[in-house]
Amino acid sequence: MANQGRSKTASRKNSPRRDRSPASVFINERRLLRDLNAISKIGIGSGGSVTRLVFSVKDLRSRQLLMHLLGQAGLKIHIDRIGNIFGRLEGLHPNAPAVLVGSHLDTVMHGGKFDGTVGVVGALEAVRTLKEGRVPLASPVEVVCFVGEESSRFGFSTLGSSLLAGEITFEDLTHAVDQDGTKLGDILSNMGIYWENLASLKRAPSTLKAYLELHIEQGPILEAKKKKIGVVTSIAAPTRFRVIFVGQADHSGTTPMEMRKDALVAAAHLIIAIEEVCLKFSHVNKGRVVGTVGALKIEPGVINAIPGRAELSVDVRSIKAEAKDRVAKLVKSKAKEIARVRGVKVQFLPIRSENPVALDKDIGSLLEEICEDKGLPYEIMPSGAGHDAMQLAKITRAGMIFIPSRRGISHSPMEWSDPKDICLGTQVLLETIVRVANEAL
Ligand SMILES: [Zn+2]
Repeated sequence: MANQGRSKTASRKNSPRRDRSPASVFINERRLLRDLNAISKIGIGSGGSVTRLVFSVKDLRSRQLLMHLLGQAGLKIHIDRIGNIFGRLEGLHPNAPAVLVGSHLDTVMHGGKFDGTVGVVGALEAVRTLKEGRVPLASPVEVVCFVGEESSRFGFSTLGSSLLAGEITFEDLTHAVDQDGTKLGDILSNMGIYWENLASLKRAPSTLKAYLELHIEQGPILEAKKKKIGVVTSIAAPTRFRVIFVGQADHSGTTPMEMRKDALVAAAHLIIAIEEVCLKFSHVNKGRVVGTVGALKIEPGVINAIPGRAELSVDVRSIKAEAKDRVAKLVKSKAKEIARVRGVKVQFLPIRSENPVALDKDIGSLLEEICEDKGLPYEIMPSGAGHDAMQLAKITRAGMIFIPSRRGISHSPMEWSDPKDICLGTQVLLETIVRVANEAL
């Protein structure tokens, strides 16, 4: 990734300041890292990878442990129908809208220990420290763990937070199927969630004051620029669809090259075309677009048969909606052209298309202030990866704090964030919670 943000160091001296609470409470670093480690052990596999796919037994076990920890901290636990977990600390005004703080515990297949988990355990640590320190908070604060942020099982991301924000239609769920053929819609029906009552999972915006999320950057910028905190301005959103080429499965020995209708060769041409199209949209300010084919299914998928069917997943993202839509359109017209030239059929199945989201400017400036007060080098930056915050931003003011990811690697057992950075990020989160919970609406 290119340099895409503005760099700031602690320098602002004469800016007008709001009321501030002294940072007299400090998180318990040992406890934070202990709980992070305990959760990371659930779903651990070869090479230190972590797999907790949404609705899997491992996912449920990590959520059980979180509920235990929330209970131990004396927070009031509430679980909504999809399974989003809330641990509430009452404020001085119990009827005031709440500050929601959290992330997710589900992971990709063979993922890392930090993506999502840092945000949930960080929120837990911040809120229990505030409770223990009897820090006066005007608004209630709720630790939240959202269900199914990762899309690796169903190709459908931010499930729990989307439902909370009222951002899902049953149509969206129609094509969400896992590798074993299990439909996401069927899982929801089994939980008593149907399209008729989908809207009832939405949380009334009037009950929310703000949403805060601590997360690993999942990119290389903070580390490369030696910054400790990323102040996130906006989140790139994906447009996702499947492309299916249908040709003719024939014998690999008897069918002459010029008589073949090879679906996989058509797919291969499209994959190259997607890279070419996105490279033309590589400039950040004009709306940098990235496109990926991350999954490919071939039939019959044997060594001695020409592939008769090839199904590709396409994921296109940008923080500029227009640029993203243009690329998605171009990809589809390229696919049609390739199909025509190669004499195969092509079909498109939509998965989901979302608009990029801007995060709250005031929370962003507050984060800048906190970093400056603490003398922490920070970076103002967009997020290339999707997060629960992009759904919450639709119903409340949302802010995100990034901490550095070693070599920018994530969704891999190599994913790593320095424990010191995790603690620092959590302390910044705590101070942000105090300021937001106590600021006048
Ligand atoms: Zn995440």
